[in-house]
Amino acid sequence: MLTIENLDVDIESIPILRKIDLVLESGKMIGLIGRNGAGKTTLMRSIMGLLKAKAGTITFDQAELTNIAGHRRAHLGIGYMPEDRRLVPELSAEQNILIPVWSTGISDFQNRLNWIYRIIPECKAFQSRPATSLSGGQQKLVALGRALMVGERLLLLDELTEGIAPVLAHRMGEILTTLKSEGVSVFIAESNDVHVAGLLDKSYVIERGAISAQTQSHQVNTSEAST
Ligand code: ATP
Repeated sequence: MLTIENLDVDIESIPILRKIDLVLESGKMIGLIGRNGAGKTTLMRSIMGLLKAKAGTITFDQAELTNIAGHRRAHLGIGYMPEDRRLVPELSAEQNILIPVWSTGISDFQNRLNWIYRIIPECKAFQSRPATSLSGGQQKLVALGRALMVGERLLLLDELTEGIAPVLAHRMGEILTTLKSEGVSVFIAESNDVHVAGLLDKSYVIERGAISAQTQSHQVNTSEAST
């Protein structure tokens, strides 16, 4: 579904990503694990078209993304949750979740909103509250909901569990489990995989802008186990 080959990205002429190769198959969940400054956000921003590739390819369902302008990529069903959330403070939680609707013109947004509220009922509970009145963890839930509004095919999550209370990190794990059962493909960047390791089909370790290791999960597929 998503294939990255030989990707190099520079920021202000400084090489940041080098020769990145990565594959995410449809319906799978993969992790990108690396310390602060390793290049996780740079890779996510490159997939979203917010940074330009210097060399290499990013292919999403046969489409070469490096040829598609960033603002068009949301139309492909790719949702991105940035590390710093970037909610609009004066808007309510629900209005923040609906922001991608205004820019992409999604017609079945009410169904998607209902789906998001089913998966993250917490967002429904504080739908009318202004973003500023929400805790950091609640804001992360809203940012996840906003990414889900457009990310019906692929979800890019940058540091989903970073800096939140353990109980909420556990809750994020439950939400990811639900998303997996709904068949959403997820690419998640974390500085450590303590809260997500059990969910990942595959992990890539990134160090100083290059992939240094790759691990395939040996989880037993529950549907196989029951047959
Ligand atoms: P973090 O979680 O701390 O953001 P990260 O793994 O996501 O870590 P990136 O944000 O992708 O790392 O940063 C990768 C490297 O690129 C770092 O060395 C960083 O200093 C550098 N970098 C990122 N943005 C810029 C920028 N705008 N100008 C110069 N260098 C940058």
